[in-house]
Amino acid sequence: MIKSIFVSSKHLQGIENSGANHLVVNGSDLDNEGWEKLQGLDTRLIISVNAIEKGEEACILDPQIQKRLLDRLDKALQFQPEGILIDRLRFGGDCTDIRDEDISKAHQVCQFCQGKDRVDTLTEFGKQLSKYVNGRSKLGIFAVAFKDDEAPKLGQVLGVNYSKLGKVFDLFSPMLYHQMLQKPVTYISDYTKWISEKTGKPILPIIQIKNMPDDLEDNITEEEIAAAFNEAIKYPSEGICFFWWAHALEKNKTSIIGKLFCSH
Ligand SMILES: [Zn+2]
Repeated sequence: MIKSIFVSSKHLQGIENSGANHLVVNGSDLDNEGWEKLQGLDTRLIISVNAIEKGEEACILDPQIQKRLLDRLDKALQFQPEGILIDRLRFGGDCTDIRDEDISKAHQVCQFCQGKDRVDTLTEFGKQLSKYVNGRSKLGIFAVAFKDDEAPKLGQVLGVNYSKLGKVFDLFSPMLYHQMLQKPVTYISDYTKWISEKTGKPILPIIQIKNMPDDLEDNITEEEIAAAFNEAIKYPSEGICFFWWAHALEKNKTSIIGKLFCSH
């Protein structure tokens, strides 16, 4: 079972006692020194790469954005990670908890995407990325957790069709931040099963350890984290990833992760 934590190589205090056997490493601030440190931990390592930055208003079809992503993939590949997970590979950067009623939060039509089918163009771009990586690393994406029947219009707006993307990418990490999604913890296993069937690929659910966004008071208890953990690891999940170590450090919750990982 994959026991993973999303980490920055700059904030690894206590990670060696976390019980993790796998880390998703933030590629934005990763350098050679950080990678060496991580390799010393004897865990499996994958690197996350942003297609679009948090809060950045950009179109995924903008040639400059696409070129920047290829450059970032190149940089990540130099470390020879087992896998790369791309974040915000869709039309609309910050929309973890987006639904049909708030599609105004998604990317609005611009000169690059005007008149284009978003699903077709995003799937096609995914194929180009996969071809570019060419088996040097597994390639996956972080997935916005919505089901087609819950938000019938959203897939077309974000350009995301999980059946089609399942044929392109090797791994999916659905962002199952249940409090942000306003869902019970059972949604975590329910959704993992759903996206597994849609994509036919390995699924690594990523869950929250504190309330998000940051301006909310943190009231997620140890019991709730344990309940979310137990939902996340249910079949057909590959395991679990916690988002993220910096939050665990900030809220003194590292021992909760340690206990859960060591007892499984
Ligand atoms: Zn656009």
